[in-house]
Amino acid sequence: MRLDDYDPGDDIRDLGRGGGGFGGGGGGMGGLLIGLLPMLLGRKMGCGTILLLGVLAFVFFGGGAQMLTGGGTTDPMADSRGSQQGIACDTAAEKFACNVFGSTHQVWGSLITNYQKPTLNFFTDQNRSGCGAAQSAMGPFYCPADQGVYLDTAFFTELAGRFGAAGDAAQAYVVAHEVGHHIQTISGISDQVRQAQQRGSQSEGNQLQVRMELQADCYAGVWAARAKTADGQPVMEPGDMEEAMRAANAIGDDTLMRAAGQRPVPESFTHGTSEQRMTWLRRGLQTGDPRQCDTFNASF
Ligand SMILES: [Zn+2]
Repeated sequence: MRLDDYDPGDDIRDLGRGGGGFGGGGGGMGGLLIGLLPMLLGRKMGCGTILLLGVLAFVFFGGGAQMLTGGGTTDPMADSRGSQQGIACDTAAEKFACNVFGSTHQVWGSLITNYQKPTLNFFTDQNRSGCGAAQSAMGPFYCPADQGVYLDTAFFTELAGRFGAAGDAAQAYVVAHEVGHHIQTISGISDQVRQAQQRGSQSEGNQLQVRMELQADCYAGVWAARAKTADGQPVMEPGDMEEAMRAANAIGDDTLMRAAGQRPVPESFTHGTSEQRMTWLRRGLQTGDPRQCDTFNASF
């Protein structure tokens, strides 16, 4: 990808590693699980939950249903006392994410009147967000409450390794997807979906969630299609589309479930199949038109 350097202002922070942590640091994996429960169960984060809640469920809970048992009363807020704040955009991975982030402002700022940028918050391992704990095991996410994208750049390594989706365009897709959730938040879509989810059953709620996620994928494609450098060059270079599509393929619910040795259960999907994720990312990429991202009125 070809991206201009972005000069971060107060829209980007490096929260560093939160001090204290769950259960005063004695919680370990148990603390992690309990800390995540309210988020997994309560839809607190709405559609802002990302790519990886599914993976998490399989890695830590072995399938999802077990999420419903145990804990849930522990304060999910990681204690940030003693946390060491870092300098934003100072590592290569952060710098890249910052540049993508800056480019999304340009694109969405040109499409949406009075566009309000989200913030980008880097963290290491664990910290806190306006939606409760930020854990790197959750993967990147968007918190509607503080309109922040949260990212531990270690996820990029995981993307290239465990998920087999290397390359800068794969990483850019992840960042642009989270910004896509911000677009849904400021446009009111997220609220509408949340209200509909409260009225419906769990599986109806999941279906709406899938449509939210696929729309964020499509918006990521819209960004990539429209993004240009200051000298007018497209951000996308040869091979970038394939990289992004590989990432979308790798994090489809069915693929993640199979990778975890499970039989895919469509009713439990929250992000869409690999095929769906690729389809909607491609649609955004090929049209560059956010109106083509109406996943809510699409039949599938
Ligand atoms: Zn998402």
